[in-house]
Amino acid sequence: MRTAGFALSLAAGTVILAAQAPQFSNSVRAFISVDAPVVALTHVRIVDGTGGPARPDQTLIIRNGTIDEIGAASSVQTPAGATVLDLTGKSVMPGIVMLHEHLYYPTGPGVYGQLGESFVRLYLAGGVTTMRTAGNVNGFMDLKLKKLIDEGQQPGPAIDSTAPYLNGPSTFLQMRDLKDADDARRQVAYWADMGATSFKAYMAITRDELRAAVDEAHKRGLKVTGHLCSVTYAEAADIGIDDLEHGFMAATDFVTDKQPDVCPGQGVGQRTIGALDENGEPFRALVRKLVDRHVALTSTLTVFETLTPGRPMPPGLDVLVPELRQQFEQNYDRTTQNQESIFKALFPKGMALERAFARAGGLLVAGTDPTGGGGVIPGYSNQRQLELLVEEGFTPLEAIKIGTLNGATYLGREARIGTIARGKQADLVVVDGDPSTNIADVRKVQTVFKQGVGYDPEKLIASVRGKVGLW
Ligand SMILES: [Zn+2]
Repeated sequence: MRTAGFALSLAAGTVILAAQAPQFSNSVRAFISVDAPVVALTHVRIVDGTGGPARPDQTLIIRNGTIDEIGAASSVQTPAGATVLDLTGKSVMPGIVMLHEHLYYPTGPGVYGQLGESFVRLYLAGGVTTMRTAGNVNGFMDLKLKKLIDEGQQPGPAIDSTAPYLNGPSTFLQMRDLKDADDARRQVAYWADMGATSFKAYMAITRDELRAAVDEAHKRGLKVTGHLCSVTYAEAADIGIDDLEHGFMAATDFVTDKQPDVCPGQGVGQRTIGALDENGEPFRALVRKLVDRHVALTSTLTVFETLTPGRPMPPGLDVLVPELRQQFEQNYDRTTQNQESIFKALFPKGMALERAFARAGGLLVAGTDPTGGGGVIPGYSNQRQLELLVEEGFTPLEAIKIGTLNGATYLGREARIGTIARGKQADLVVVDGDPSTNIADVRKVQTVFKQGVGYDPEKLIASVRGKVGLW
């Protein structure tokens, strides 16, 4: 069915590669619920991702993977032969675009298990249609999965795949220790040649290594983000970094006796962040620098929530193998009992600082970071991140924009994805209810359209339930 339109184009002598749908494998087909050249979503509320008000009772026409028409249900004609979905009482929003995702999960002390195959299903089921893997301990897995997904051999979001971490000497078994700036440049060049489209600097990198890495990546039109510690946010902004992970939680700019190129310890930095005044001049000066240098900031509230006492159990734990579920539940109990935890004050402070950055005109993007002590479950946590942005002080419409258009803007793909508009790729999430007024409705995903093909979230989740941790 889907190739019919394409075959016609070929017959007419015009090859429209952009409209070519992948040839799906049978294993991918098992998760597809809507696949037709023309699909009409009728009587649906549209939350378009721009932050503008929701529009009730609309009709949206998808043709060969592209949004072909949008308008009031009373005025848009449903094309003959279209597959019609009456979405009365439901909403459609853009596919989620989040930027701190991983294809690994903490499985044992200091060990990250490679869970790419199950994670890409969970991300897609949660409404994620594009994601950046913000750091890679999988070697070639991110790249291979990206290719297989693009080819229709695996279900999953489009992946901006990050190369293995750029880090100095560390205790992480699954990271290489950079020797110097030339080494950093070589590592960037190698992985860019292998197809990586993004890079992540880590806590023990030096300024010289970061400078060389940024220079090499930028020469190739690629971006660098960082979970920093040894390098301050201000130093990284001056070097030309594109993005900073974890809001301000990883900033060591305010550590008074900070030695250049040395990480004073994550906790030392976080104590200064917890005591920071978001209206004070030191913080405002840093925000001005980041905004002036066009450095984006990635909010990863989901991972910090799992470290904060008194927070609800995170969603989606039943997908884990029992051992990993138990392991997280024990961590959760330990966190709950730790009333001295720095995160009690740091979590709300982190929210206030991120909000101030966004209000000052900075590009705030979102991600989930399925690391920490576990409990950050792909897909479920992307929805949770949107809820937490609302708790941070954004309206639901603003939170949805941060989780869709802002991510697309950072990736330079906002002309194709990130909002619902005529001519854009049909990456859409159909949810029951109205997330523009009740953000928790983003949990009620009915169908996820990626390039106009609808996936069934229930089937994707059922295929991994109770098994995540094994593959
Ligand atoms: Zn991470």
